[in-house]
This record gives sequence, C-alpha cells and structure tokens, in this order.
Amino acid sequence: MPLNFAIYTDCGGDIMINDKVEDILNAQINKEFYSAYLYLAMSAYFDGIGLKGFAHWTKVQAKEEMEHGLKIFNYIIERDGNIDLRTIEAPVKDFQDPLQVFELILEHEKLITGSIETVANFSEDECDRATRHFIDQYISEQVEEEAQVLDVIKMIKMFGTECPIMYHIDKELMKRES
Ligand code: FE
Ligand code: CA
Repeated sequence: MPLNFAIYTDCGGDIMINDKVEDILNAQINKEFYSAYLYLAMSAYFDGIGLKGFAHWTKVQAKEEMEHGLKIFNYIIERDGNIDLRTIEAPVKDFQDPLQVFELILEHEKLITGSIETVANFSEDECDRATRHFIDQYISEQVEEEAQVLDVIKMIKMFGTECPIMYHIDKELMKRES
C-alpha cells in the first residue's frame, strides 16, 4: 500500500517563494537600504562637526545595512522570486547632538526589529520554513544592533558631552571594524 504523503505536504514544497512572502521581503530590502541612507546622513553630520570616530562608526553601520539588503536580495533570487526595488525615502538630515542621534538610531533599530519579527511571523503563517529559517540570522543581528547602540548611549550619558570626554568617546568609536 503506497504511503499517503498528502497528509504531510500541507505546506507544499516549492523553491519558488509565494507572492506575499516575496512582497514582505522586498519591503525589507527597502528598509535595509533606507537604514544605510539614514546612517550615511548621520555620518555626514558627524564629519561636519569634527567627530571622525562617530562618522566612521555610522559609516561602517551604513555598509552593514547595505549588506543586509543585499543578502535578502540574493535570497529572493535563490528562491526564484521577483526583485522589486522600491523608492528609497530621503533620510532626516538635521541632527542636534551625538546623544540625540544615537537615541534616534535606537528608535530606528527598534522599528527594524519589529519589522524583522513581522517577517518571521508572517513566513511562519505562510508555511515558509525556509524564509523563517533565513530570517533567524536577522533576529540575532537585531539583538546585537540594539545592544551596540545602547552601549554608546550609556557611555555618553555616563561620561557626559564635555569636549575632552567627547574626544575620547570619538576615539573609541573609531576602533569599530565591522
Ligand atoms: Fe539591518
Ligand atoms: Ca550589526
């Protein structure tokens, strides 16, 4: 008697991604590239006020965001899906001071964390285990992102924003490699 596999294949088994998961992943690519834009705007601001270390830190982060976007891009292609590159919004460019910028970063990264969690829940609802698995690395990444930003906020709050202190914090941020 042949085995009845039908009962096990409720989720299908197609490498091609479904339209809804494809859509949410394309939206996530846009968010990652928008994040890169936002960090670049911040980097330019820091460069303008002479904080080279802050400028460096945010530029490294911008590159990382482009990599996040690119990885999703590659994933959609791997799943035989369609790439839909959308308009990238212009980021804010008026910033007050380093603390305000880092608080803005934290707020932004929390939105991204929420967005990644939505992708995870959504792919689970859509029975897309591959995407659910793929997005796990982004969930861990967001924990790291928020922690790193929080470290800088704590440092600024703890030591203050007087010139000699900022000088040292700036030197510290210059050490970031990836
Ligand atoms: Fe990211
Ligand atoms: Ca990171």
